[in-house]
Amino acid sequence: MPLHTSAADHIRDLGDYVSASPSSFHAAHEGARRLAEAGFTGLDELQPWDAGAGKFYVIRDGALIAWVTPAGAGPTTGFNILGAHTDSPSFKLKPKPTTGRFGWLQAGVEVYGGPLLNSWLDRELQLAGRLVMLDGTQHLTATGPLLRFPQLAIHLDRAVNEGLTLDKQQHMNPVFGLGDPDGEDLLGLLADRVSGSSDGQGGGAAGGTAPIDPEQIGGYDVVIADTQPPAVFGAKSEFFASGRLDNLSATHAGLAALIAHADAAGSTSGPEPAPIAVLAAFDHEEIGSASRSGACGPVLEDILVRISDGLGASVSQRRQAFAASFCVSADAGHAVHPNYAERHDPINRPVLNGGPLLKINANQRYATDAAGAALWARLCGEAGVPYQEFVSNNVMPCGSTIGPLTATRLGIRTVDVGVPLLSMHSARELCGVEDPHRLARVTALFFGTAAGL
Ligand code: ZN
Repeated sequence: MPLHTSAADHIRDLGDYVSASPSSFHAAHEGARRLAEAGFTGLDELQPWDAGAGKFYVIRDGALIAWVTPAGAGPTTGFNILGAHTDSPSFKLKPKPTTGRFGWLQAGVEVYGGPLLNSWLDRELQLAGRLVMLDGTQHLTATGPLLRFPQLAIHLDRAVNEGLTLDKQQHMNPVFGLGDPDGEDLLGLLADRVSGSSDGQGGGAAGGTAPIDPEQIGGYDVVIADTQPPAVFGAKSEFFASGRLDNLSATHAGLAALIAHADAAGSTSGPEPAPIAVLAAFDHEEIGSASRSGACGPVLEDILVRISDGLGASVSQRRQAFAASFCVSADAGHAVHPNYAERHDPINRPVLNGGPLLKINANQRYATDAAGAALWARLCGEAGVPYQEFVSNNVMPCGSTIGPLTATRLGIRTVDVGVPLLSMHSARELCGVEDPHRLARVTALFFGTAAGL
């Protein structure tokens, strides 16, 4: 399927993707479902692969790696990789999660990553993630509206507007009902809302909807997600509000671009043969990426090595292929906030709908170097897409992304880019309606471009 021609259609599709992806596991499986629908083949890491030319994907826990190998690919063909992440800041269900007092039922949760705590107050929230049964089978589950972090009335805290302080243990225990916690079981609620089996590589939640036995749940990775649907708004409908734009805006752009690229496979804009186009959507970016499905782990290298083995590459030829490769690390970034302009660089002030960011940091918190910047400028120019440079104010600590991790692990040249946001890590973030579509357009062009730098 080609890319949507209008930004409005792309943003509607992004909203559908975010709504279908309340957890990283859902984001990986919904991505796989879309790829399978577009004719991609799911591969199982436990099996041998006969994966030469063609289009494929692999799910590893909450990570999704997908790629298109062109017919002419050989042992030294480079990889053009779009890196992104499937997870978002949230709260994760603790062991023995059913608690409460004074007639309230409450859920025990840990803080996952760096959410803006206040933004999660007074919302209808759901639990979502995966359940793993004692026999090893896995199920995706999402409850729909179930919980709330209720804010304290201003009458009981008259100074709240001078500074709200939230204790992560004392104040962040969401309510989910009334009753005696001894007679309730939150896991039973999760078992009732199972949407299908997430086993294997078949694209996820398409299985049966029969409830499962909560007694058979051996483990769970379950997070809290907002349930309010995304919305377009503003004087000229220029804004898009949604949860998890960091970083489903980039994962979705990569999916749309890879599916469009597969449609047009074979066409390349340079004299060199087409590269192998790869979408690498990692889990656990928000907590440091050190996991078997995170960017510090081996998942991308494992897959690239198996692709390259399938093309008959020697170790040295693989190194040659990596040297010819390029990674665009796409993650949400900051637009200038009109009420806090002093927190931003005084000169480089990206705005919503000004185009995707090129992220630069002298200390390599972003992997962009001059060669990466030049590739990004060239791609945006060819795609007819504006872009904006982001650099931090010198007294503000700079965030980071999977970009430097991928570059450090694999030695692949990397450039950091992303959609500009306000309210990053809020339960409901804000971007412009134009920028995600532009990121997808540049990415689709990148997938077909022999980097040649
Ligand atoms: Zn991010």
